[in-house]
Amino acid sequence: MRHILPNAMLGILGGGQLGRMFTMAARAMGYRVTVLDPDPDSPAGALADVHIRGAYDDSAALDRLADTCAAVTTEFENVPADSLSYLAGRVRVSPSAACVSIAQDRIAEKRYISGAGLQVAPFLAIESGADLDQNLAGHLPGILKLARLGYDGKGQIRVKTPEEARAAFAELGGKPCVLERQLNLKTEISVIIARTSPTEIACFPVAENQHESGILDISIVPARVTPEVAARAQDMALALAQAMDYVGVLAVEFFVLENDDLVINEIAPRPHNSGHYTLDACATSQFEQQVRTLCGLPPADTRLLSPVVMVNLLGDIWRDDEPAWDKLLSQPNVKLHLYGKKTARIGRKMGHFNVLAEDVENALSQALELKQMLH
Ligand code: ADP
Ligand code: MG
Repeated sequence: MRHILPNAMLGILGGGQLGRMFTMAARAMGYRVTVLDPDPDSPAGALADVHIRGAYDDSAALDRLADTCAAVTTEFENVPADSLSYLAGRVRVSPSAACVSIAQDRIAEKRYISGAGLQVAPFLAIESGADLDQNLAGHLPGILKLARLGYDGKGQIRVKTPEEARAAFAELGGKPCVLERQLNLKTEISVIIARTSPTEIACFPVAENQHESGILDISIVPARVTPEVAARAQDMALALAQAMDYVGVLAVEFFVLENDDLVINEIAPRPHNSGHYTLDACATSQFEQQVRTLCGLPPADTRLLSPVVMVNLLGDIWRDDEPAWDKLLSQPNVKLHLYGKKTARIGRKMGHFNVLAEDVENALSQALELKQMLH
């Protein structure tokens, strides 16, 4: 495949923090970037060469992207798949509309993954109220999740009985959902893959993820799982990317069960919050891989250069003042990343920091201390 080389214009749908870090990686390599995002204050728009303020289904805006960019990617899975198909008729697009449509619908996603021979949590597709009339015993206690547009634990309700499931379905607006059995988790991990072609594929080290109120709180790398579990997770992620003929950066979230079985929770067709450690701790960041795969270049070295713990910074810690950044910036082994968002809100991702140390336990204790200090 033809390589798209520096100085070319790359397009991205979405101007949030993921788009911003893509923009920085691309510009560092000498590419130019056009961001499409309706928000005049979007974090990526502020750093891009061109910011088109338009909706993701605005055909004039899509035409402008197609006319001016050598290739187009996305920073989020909820971009209309039709927009990607439309663009793909005119310009190189990755990931494909087909892959994004799988990732944007939990029913399609779970069916696809289990169809590929990989384990998911026992689930039922709940497309209408009638689907709750069947025997739910094998799926309770469970979690009812909206099939579309859920993120950071939003659009999910835990249910113990069929009655609670029916009430939850009504509360979620009667929209298509999955009812998933609640599993006992030993831990959660994720793997990020970069794939340009069947023979150009790379896998990042496994991250161990801890959530707070449904939102990623910290990622610990290397994950504290056995080497066998880590290798199995990487093999499953690679197998899934190959099955999907995926081009781009793919994140795969796993549950590790008490017996070390691995269950795929969900996938994201883009760089992932749990991969922000790669910015400072790997030979290549997940965002550089997004640029490379988009440009038809092979993914570069994914080697981990240092144990690392990433801590998310949510809007919760912005009170009257900015948080005490001097406490982070005075640490020589801490790397601060802020996304340039103008207003802080509870639960809003404002930035993150990476703590690099000789070993993961030291990185973790320092990360937790710093996190505590900022609260
Ligand atoms: P989101 O799209 O909001 O990230 P997830 O499906 O990943 O939604 O769920 C968020 C978190 O909720 C997971 O990381 C996990 O901690 C917990 N969770 C989700 N599904 C299950 C399950 N079937 N069993 C146990 N915990 C779950
Ligand atoms: Mg998730």
